[in-house]
Amino acid sequence: MKPLILLCNDDGIHAAGIQILASRLADLGEVVVVAPDRNRSASSHAITLDRPLLVAEVAPGQYSVDGTPADCVYLGVHHVAGRKPDLVVSGINDDYNLGSDFFFSGTVAAAVEAAIHGVPAFAISLERGPSDGLGPASDFAHALAHAILAAGLPTKTLLNVNVPNRPIEGYQWTRLGERIYSDEVEVVNGQRGRRYYYCLGSAKTSDSEPPGADTTAVRSGLVSITPLDLDLTSRSLLATLPGWRLAGFEAIMAEEGMSPPR
Ligand code: MN
Repeated sequence: MKPLILLCNDDGIHAAGIQILASRLADLGEVVVVAPDRNRSASSHAITLDRPLLVAEVAPGQYSVDGTPADCVYLGVHHVAGRKPDLVVSGINDDYNLGSDFFFSGTVAAAVEAAIHGVPAFAISLERGPSDGLGPASDFAHALAHAILAAGLPTKTLLNVNVPNRPIEGYQWTRLGERIYSDEVEVVNGQRGRRYYYCLGSAKTSDSEPPGADTTAVRSGLVSITPLDLDLTSRSLLATLPGWRLAGFEAIMAEEGMSPPR
């Protein structure tokens, strides 16, 4: 049986990035697209619980969902695709998802959702720029998809890929860097004394360039590939926290006859 590749994004099913992936990856297996019916960028890992979701087949093998990227992958993995996908690819996102963007990105969340359900996955994002870098980015996605279909990924891991939008110098295996946003709030005065607020925060360049970080790699013209782990536990903090004593609670524990902290 041909491998099943499920595509998702957060820019919406009609975005150029997911459509070029659908055609570029077609020779690797059966491609099914399950994506939001509109732009749901920065929706993070939200899932829709307060209403049913509408799924519409907008083209052969392409399904739009009036929900979030995580909704789409959940439905794609468990229902729409008909069988469990061998790979989930999310993107190609319109603009980078570097460093702490991980926590906002719907693109990355879609890949995380796949990893939660035991499906190998990667997210891919392209720097917003004057040139059309979708061709090279989809070539990279093709090569990476081919490699993952052959070798798999360990469970509860995924890859986050970022592609510069200019002639690519190569690629680098990276870690998450630091993404700094200007902390701007724009206040707009509306009618009847109402005030509206825009959280603007455009991305700034970090002064330090930590070696091995995704932010550093893309600045050097390299495609960054960051392996991510669903286990967000801080090992270093877990090693030091047992030195803490929550005296206020321990008094209650002693009173109630609870066992001391382990
Ligand atoms: Mn997006």
